[in-house]
Formats: sequence, structure tokens, C-alpha cells
Amino acid sequence: MAVQGFNPFEMAQQQFDANADKLNLDQATRDLLRNPDREFSFNIPVKMDDGTYRVFRGFRCQHNDARGPYKGGIRFHPNETMDTVRALSMWMTWKTAVVDIPLGGGKGGVICDPRELSDREQEQICRGWVRKIYKYLGPTIDIPAPDVMTNGQHMIWMLDEYEKLSGAQYPGFITGKPLGSGGSLGRTEATGYGVIYCLREALKEKGMDVKKTTVAVQGFGNVAQYAVDQLNKLGATVVCVSCWDNTDKKSYTFKKTAGCQFAELKAMVDKFGSIDKDKAKAAGYEILPGDDWISQDVDVLIPAALENQVNKDTAPKIHNNVKILCEAANGPTTPEADAIIKEKNIFLIPDFLANAGGVTCSYFEQVQCNMNYFWPKDEVLEKLDQKMTSAYHAVSAMAQEKKVYMRDAAYLISIQRVATACKMRGWI
Ligand code: NAD
Repeated sequence: MAVQGFNPFEMAQQQFDANADKLNLDQATRDLLRNPDREFSFNIPVKMDDGTYRVFRGFRCQHNDARGPYKGGIRFHPNETMDTVRALSMWMTWKTAVVDIPLGGGKGGVICDPRELSDREQEQICRGWVRKIYKYLGPTIDIPAPDVMTNGQHMIWMLDEYEKLSGAQYPGFITGKPLGSGGSLGRTEATGYGVIYCLREALKEKGMDVKKTTVAVQGFGNVAQYAVDQLNKLGATVVCVSCWDNTDKKSYTFKKTAGCQFAELKAMVDKFGSIDKDKAKAAGYEILPGDDWISQDVDVLIPAALENQVNKDTAPKIHNNVKILCEAANGPTTPEADAIIKEKNIFLIPDFLANAGGVTCSYFEQVQCNMNYFWPKDEVLEKLDQKMTSAYHAVSAMAQEKKVYMRDAAYLISIQRVATACKMRGWI
């Protein structure tokens, strides 16, 4: 999203360049991988409920498909930018590679605020988005999914439009579909649970008892909610969560030292991840300024909201007792903040590893759609746990072997896998 002075694509390229140097990548491979393969930017005209017309700007960016079809979510946000979409498409390539699933990287978005649009208007945006680029989408070309402020309903409208245009059923065209309409059990929980599967392995490696571990979370949307759910299940204490308040146009931190409970908070959150302040107060939550989540005296910080949240201004506020920063959001930490995290000797679980559970389960959803046979939830989550656990240990082993930061270790594995696939195809 547009924030003055912060460009996520420049950040993604900076991270790539540093690791391309470590791998001694040749110039052609660098040129191929530091920019997307193909990008679309287009108008979506919509007749609004009041009879007027509005034109929304849509994006799709296809970064790399050497290891499989482009894959990545679609975000609806008033501050969406092409550069954010570019960065996220690149991170998707590294994400699918680090968990070793046969998919590439892509991302999409629309500049709009679904909180201020009717269902019918949102449906028109979804259908318009597909109509503009449907020839470049499909189960063997590019597979979208939900992301910030999009959900299963949006996916079904998009699927329906794609099938109308293509004249056949293509349930593998899109993932994150609702149950009973081609969706997979476990998909809703997958990203948040995957984050905590990685954290659980890190705690084990560090000899930390999860039951004595305290955590502060930023966000209470899809990812944060199921991260909190899994933390509750493992017996960790979630000291606070923070979220955006769309009425006050600012964020708040909701703190309960005895521990935030998923079920309790779930009953007071809306579908955009905003917690009702009055209900929270009545349930004994302290309501603090939005940025306070980062300065808590806890063992683990989990940014699970947006990019650019741990930056040169906020990172110095991190408490000296924090041992692990587990990135659930995409791109939450800037390179300047990375330097501070290293200096503070905080162990990092990088975003495209930690939050890869969503795309991993999307891949399972595609497999199930292709087989037309759906697995029970336990089986989905067990397969997810196996994938996340083995990816975590591969990155951790690389970090130890090469004595590098965990983010760099994840990059080294992913870039190597994607570069090899490009070379084998004879592209470079
Ligand atoms: P969401 O829209 O469901 O939730 C976002 C949450 O962040 C909400 O609770 C919102 O109130 C909060 N928020 C927004 N601005 C904030 C601020 N300034 N301070 C505090 N809280 C704020 O989104 P989500 O699907 O949970 O995604 C969260 C992050 O995880 C994003 O970076 C997204 O790209 C990434 N991600 C999501 C998935 C997925 O499967 N949903 C997968 C991988 C990565």
C-alpha cells in the first residue's frame, strides 16, 4: 500500500540483489528474476447502486512461472499500488519455492474499499477484474486466491465469470473457495496455523517452552486470528492483539495480560478484522494505542497486518526481552529494521516462509479439485504441518550452515530453486 517514502518493490529487489550476490548469479538470471515476467494494469468500470458509474483500477502481476503456473492472491485496498503488487508477486515466487510446491508467483489487486461498497458493487468489480485478463488466467496459467479484504465469496464470483467466459467448469482456476463450492477444509486456518507450526519448531530449536512463551500480535484478520487460535491450543500466552478501527481511522492494541482468547475475540470482531472497542472493554481488555503491540515485554512478536510495520521508527521500540520475530504479514520488516533486529540478536522467521501455509493449502485445494475428491480436515492440516515443518528446518539448516540471517537463508534456497528451473527450461 502507498506509504510515503516506502516502496515495497524496491525493498523486494534490494533483498533479491543481496542474495543474488551471495549466490554469484549471472547477469541474465538476475535480470529475469528481479522484474516480473508480465504485468497488467486496467480499468474496471462499474455501475454503482445509485445509478452513477465509477472506474476502479485493477492490477495483476505475473512474476515467474518456471516451477509451475503463476499463483497469488488478489487484494482489495484503497491504497493499493502497482509496486506493492509487483513486490508481492515476487515474494510469491520465493514462497512457493521455499515450501517446494509446483507453482510460481503472481499477485493482483484493485484500488477500492470493500468496507464502503455493497455486495453487488463488489461482485461487479470481481467479474470485471476477470473479464479484463481472463485469457491470461486459468488452472494451468495463473491461479488467483483471496488476500487482504477479499474472501471466498469474491473467489466464487471470479470463478463463475471465468467459467462463463471459458464455457466449462474449471474449479482449479481459483483457490480459497468456500466449502461445498470446491474449497478445501483447513484453508481458512492454513496461513495462521502455518505461521505457528514454524514458530513451534523455532521454540523447540531454542529450547523454549511454548507453555511459558508470551506473544504480541499485530492484526486480527484471517491470519492473526488463526495464529492466535493455534497459540491458544499450544498453551502460549497471547498478551495482546492490535487492529485497525475504520470508524476512528486509527489502530488500537487490545491487551489482556492473562491471555487473549481466540473464541472470545472472534465474537467481537467484524469480517474486516476490526475489534469492537465497547465489547472488548466489557470483556476486560485494556485498550492502548495501535503501535503499543511492538513495545510489549514478550518473547515473540508476530506482525500479521500489513507491510512496513517494523521499520526504522518502530523497531527501536522492541523490548529487550523479545527473542523471536515471526513475520506473518508480507513484507512487515524494512531493510533498515532488519539491521536493528540483527543488532538486537532477535531470531527472525521470514515472511515468505512463515506465511506459506496459505498457498500450500491452496495447492492442496487445487489437487483435490483436480481429483474431484476432498480430504478430511485432519488430513489437510497434517499435510500442511509436514510441509511447513520440513521447509522451516531446511531454512534453519541453511542459516546455520552458511551462518546467515534466516531471511537470507530462505532467499538462498528459493532463488537457487527458481534459477535452476529457469536454466533447465533453457530461458537463461
Ligand atoms: P485481513 O484483511 O483479514 O486482516 C488484516 C488485519 O490487519 C485486520 O485485523 C486489520 O484491522 C489489521 N490492520 C490493518 N491496518 C493495521 C494497522 N495499521 N495496525 C494494526 N492492525 C492493522 O488480512 P489477512 O488475510 O489476515 O492478511 C494479513 C497479512 O498476511 C497481509 O500482509 C497479507 O498479505 C498476509 N498474508 C495473508 C494470507 C492469507 O491467506 N490471508 C497468506 C499469506 C500472507
